[in-house]
Amino acid sequence: MPRRPAPFAQPVYVTRPVAPPIADYVKRLEAIWASGWFANSGPQHAELERALAAYLQAPQLSLFNNGTIAMIVACQALRLSGEVITTPFTFPATPHVLSWNGITPVFADIDPASMNLDPHNIEPLITNRTSAILAVHVYGTPCDVTALQKVADSHGLKVVYDGAHAFGMEIDGRAITSFGDATMLSFHATKLFHTAEGGALVVQDENVKARIDLLKNFGIKNEFEVVMPGINGKMSELQAALGLEVLRCLDAERAERARVAAVYRARVADMPGVVLAAEPPGVRPSYQYFVARIGGEGARHSRDDVFHGLREFNIYARKYFYPLCSEYSCYRMLPSASPALLPVAHRVAGEVLCLPFYGALGNADVERICDALEYLLTH
Ligand SMILES: *Cc1c(COP(=O)(O)O)cnc(C)c1O
Repeated sequence: MPRRPAPFAQPVYVTRPVAPPIADYVKRLEAIWASGWFANSGPQHAELERALAAYLQAPQLSLFNNGTIAMIVACQALRLSGEVITTPFTFPATPHVLSWNGITPVFADIDPASMNLDPHNIEPLITNRTSAILAVHVYGTPCDVTALQKVADSHGLKVVYDGAHAFGMEIDGRAITSFGDATMLSFHATKLFHTAEGGALVVQDENVKARIDLLKNFGIKNEFEVVMPGINGKMSELQAALGLEVLRCLDAERAERARVAAVYRARVADMPGVVLAAEPPGVRPSYQYFVARIGGEGARHSRDDVFHGLREFNIYARKYFYPLCSEYSCYRMLPSASPALLPVAHRVAGEVLCLPFYGALGNADVERICDALEYLLTH
């Protein structure tokens, strides 16, 4: 039996944003000050849009002020309406963007291994009001994109992906954003790549991108023509400048997170009552989260015991995504939100725990987090 490890002197949070050398950011700020161009598709915006399109192999990419507005605009650009089938195991923004478009979210149960929308559960929920599937690559595990597309194609539905956790992911060398009709990326500070607040929409069709670029700028076509009821979804020059510097740090951050993940895997895999998500073959990971599932069959300790126990060691793991979106007061009256229809999602939401995961965690820190976890699981 291991002895009780000492708590961390400073709190350890679930993530820590990539912070590029400040002098490099200041240089870009000086250029912005000199030009007096702070917003509305200036040179920083153009440079970041180009750089990300190249880095992500995503030629039709539009920057946004955040990922949620990007998804709201995706619904408008693809003219979604009626009902959209989605997952309850996600961040609130996913169903909320449907509500903001006057669309009813219809929750379908998830796959127990990937924790993503299970393509088998979609067909029974399709009605003559269904216009799309909104799936999430949760934690950076890719959805079964082939099966989802097949269901969508046989019913004439659009496919939109919430790719907030999927930055830079590839399936067999193919960019994750090349699947479906549109993919949202979030550049919030808690995401692998970030612009403090920000996001992007990637589509396959240049005409759709043209429509998106109008929609994110009030529908303004030129000085005298407003052609549709758009919104303000624009990313500022300050955000874009930060993104350009964060992008330069990204390969190094990915390498550090791969190191952290390897230390966790080596230690956590053998702990009693803990299951780690499998690493799907052929997938270039996003390194967005490191999730452990605790308290499944035969476990002696519940996820909540471990969650509270870790706080005594000054470790702030997070229960993403508990509670399920279908449990929110604004959605739980929906027929599809009934817990009896979402058994897998309810089980998974009771087991998941996102452990601290960022490049600045040293190996000794990760070992110490594992010591605390092991202590809690064996006492
Ligand atoms: C972060 C996140 C969002 C929201 O993105 P913002 O850029 O913060 O608006 C949406 N969906 C998921 C799954 C997320 O994790």
